[in-house]
Amino acid sequence: MPDASDSRLPGNKTAAVIGAGPAGLMAAEVLGQAGVAVTVYDQMASPGRKFLMAGRGGLNLTHSEDLNQFLTRYGDSHPLLRCAIQAFPPAALRAWSDRLGQPTFVGSSGRVFPKTLKTSPLLRTWLLRLGNLGVTLKLRHRWQGWDDEGSLRFVAGDKEIFVEPDVTVLALGGASWPKLGSDAQWAAMLRAQGIVVSPLRPANCGFAADWSEVFQRFEGEPLKRIAIDFDGRSVRGEATITRNGIEGGAIYALSSTLREAVDKNSHASIAIDLLPDVAMAKLRERLSVSRGKQSLSNFLRKATHLSAAALALVREAALSSGLSLPALNADALANLIKATPVRLIGVQPIATAISTAGGVSFAELDDRFMLRRYPGIFVAGEMLDWDAPTGGYLLQASFATAVAAARGAISWLSTG
Ligand SMILES: Cc1cc2nc3c(=O)[nH]c(=O)nc-3n(C[C@H](O)[C@H](O)[C@H](O)COP(=O)(O)OP(=O)(O)OC[C@H]3O[C@@H](n4cnc5c(N)ncnc54)[C@H](O)[C@@H]3O)c2cc1C
Repeated sequence: MPDASDSRLPGNKTAAVIGAGPAGLMAAEVLGQAGVAVTVYDQMASPGRKFLMAGRGGLNLTHSEDLNQFLTRYGDSHPLLRCAIQAFPPAALRAWSDRLGQPTFVGSSGRVFPKTLKTSPLLRTWLLRLGNLGVTLKLRHRWQGWDDEGSLRFVAGDKEIFVEPDVTVLALGGASWPKLGSDAQWAAMLRAQGIVVSPLRPANCGFAADWSEVFQRFEGEPLKRIAIDFDGRSVRGEATITRNGIEGGAIYALSSTLREAVDKNSHASIAIDLLPDVAMAKLRERLSVSRGKQSLSNFLRKATHLSAAALALVREAALSSGLSLPALNADALANLIKATPVRLIGVQPIATAISTAGGVSFAELDDRFMLRRYPGIFVAGEMLDWDAPTGGYLLQASFATAVAAARGAISWLSTG
């Protein structure tokens, strides 16, 4: 039975937004500003869990590069995603953050952060603003699809609740870090309704490598200022050794092509330049000096200034290529350090990925982000079928599609 008190205010249009992540909260704000009575539902005990997690290492809201360049980061994404970002571009997101009392700055890499670097002050003010707009937050409400009459069905504790809003915005997130709430159970529910959901796959994720027991001891160690080459692309950045593989910014940037390669060939071989700022000739010269009585480890450490983890990786690569490190001459050593081969043999599970590729197909949406088969139901955020690297592109697309879906819902309400 519909619970009228749950979302319907007399004389008002009502909206249910499901998912209190950045996309759901942004959709709620836009709808609330238009005078729609909005209720946001989330299955967790507090809103924005993944958004808060994103702020742990510095909340990278968006990127400052030229908009045309910015849009290329979404690869062959659907034109609808591009339209949404053009309508709510990085400058609009920064202005929004500013209005929340959270001015932003551009970091040295062009990435944009709030000055506090954290999510919590921004989220706190945002929730206050939403409260002032009359947005109601219903937590610990797990959405379970629709009943036979088309009402939204939630489970809250031991109660079942049915809601019949005028419009619904689904903003349920991807499948990564399910313990933060986005567990992608929605995928099966939507598929059961005949909606095409492309397979959910890990994006901005780590990869498995078959490390020796000795090298596993370097778990958690960073490889700083490296360049990783794969398939004609070279990405500078950092990576971290994990117990059974490798992760981190430079890996994430290559993750969609690496994932395709691993899916297709069961492996992918990357080459890591451990000293991208040192020219090959210079490195050869340094390695040509006589070792004297020094151990090879000491000699390499002094000649290269590489960390213990980086040198261990060189040993690991030599071992797996069947090479004897002490037998290598200066040229071969330099080649190995400038292109240390690492064979990736698997993709780390989606639960540990930063984001999700795949999701609700854009073919299911009209240009208002409304499901063609289910008028009045809109979709936003990471649950849509797009993929992007880290660098602020994930949140920008989540926010922009939420603005587009909410504006679409307002336009549908005003004409419907
Ligand atoms: C460690 C980490 C760091 C990150 N850092 C950055 C960064 O710096 N910059 C960046 O751009 N991106 C970053 N991201 C990605 C970014 O956080 C996500 O892209 C973004 O949160 C997606 O927003 P969303 O609102 O679409 O989904 P989510 O934030 O996942 O929100 C979805 C919400 O839906 C709720 N929900 C799901 N299913 C149900 C259900 N059945 N019933 C009720 N509620 C449900 C969930 O509880 C959740 O609150 C990071 C991600 C991680 C994991």
